[in-house]
Amino acid sequence: MEEKLISQENLKMLVADLIKTNHIVVGQDQKAVGWKRLSLTDDIIVNSKNVPSNLSYKEFLFAKTEPIFYFRNNKDNYDLIEPADGEASPNLDEQKIIFLGAKPCDARSIEIMSHVFNWDYKDKFYNERAERSIVIGVACNHQDEFCFCTSVGLNPTSEAGSDLFLVPLDEKNYALKIVSDKGKEFIQPFTNYLSEGNPKITSEVLAKIKSPEKKFEQAKVREWITSNFEHKLFDKVGETCLGCGQCAFACPVCHCFDIVDEECDYTCGRRMKNWDACQFGLFTLHSSGHNPRETQGKRYRQRIAHKFKYYHDKFSETLCTGCGRCSRGCPVGIDISLILSETKYL
Ligand code: SF4
Ligand code: SF4
Repeated sequence: MEEKLISQENLKMLVADLIKTNHIVVGQDQKAVGWKRLSLTDDIIVNSKNVPSNLSYKEFLFAKTEPIFYFRNNKDNYDLIEPADGEASPNLDEQKIIFLGAKPCDARSIEIMSHVFNWDYKDKFYNERAERSIVIGVACNHQDEFCFCTSVGLNPTSEAGSDLFLVPLDEKNYALKIVSDKGKEFIQPFTNYLSEGNPKITSEVLAKIKSPEKKFEQAKVREWITSNFEHKLFDKVGETCLGCGQCAFACPVCHCFDIVDEECDYTCGRRMKNWDACQFGLFTLHSSGHNPRETQGKRYRQRIAHKFKYYHDKFSETLCTGCGRCSRGCPVGIDISLILSETKYL
């Protein structure tokens, strides 16, 4: 793997160049609430010490809401009309989407979600955006009680999912690792921003990057879920959970959506795809009135079992990157990693 040196100043100039040459550069907003498309007037923030933003960048790949197609009655038939360019967010044209400064718990998310969007149906919206994406990851120098990347097979210097990866060497310089072929091809026209010579990622540099403590063993959690489907733990959490869905919407890998037809009048309409969440009571409500997950405890069990067992059973992948967003943002203090670590005592 090639490693180059890039100064913070040159990184900013590279980003400005990308914006000027019509790339979609997505970075964290100033208050770290979420991610936004950067413009030339924005401050470029690549800060390995930042807490993970409240929201992940998944909405740039998997839009909160977007039309799949429009339909119009044409005598005895219906015409289907593709959404116009620019209606989807970001639009389905040729521009590359650069995710700048993704921590390992965000960088890994695209690959994890790709399984479900290429399983029984290939989702063109997700796949076209994922293909056009370049992830510039950064080693993470933040940890709090909610982080648990090391419990789900990642760590603060994990390059998985990144095409290029930045390691801060000091206050002014990064080592830029070229991780994938996609990253190598992408950086080729911009090598003027990289310095000659190899940077030194010394043991002192790596020693400054601390790892969160491992809180649970994934295989043990899977075993526990298999033999404790009716455990009272789920009812206990369900008594507290508000069913607000913050955890799912903030999560970099939650991907449930609903499809609804919206009519414009009797002759036309559009089919919309909207984010949904298994924590909502309406999520599994049948038109008969029956709800197979009629309690919040059952809905919380689904959240845990889907992420840590069912997704793994199907794709050999855990549906969680340990970012801790769901717990940091939960209005009633439900902490997913505490619940998972508790299972070993139950
Ligand atoms: S954020 Fe907390 S309260 Fe809201 S649905 Fe998730 S676990 Fe329940
Ligand atoms: S379940 Fe929670 S900790 Fe895991 S990836 Fe989603 S938001 Fe992050």
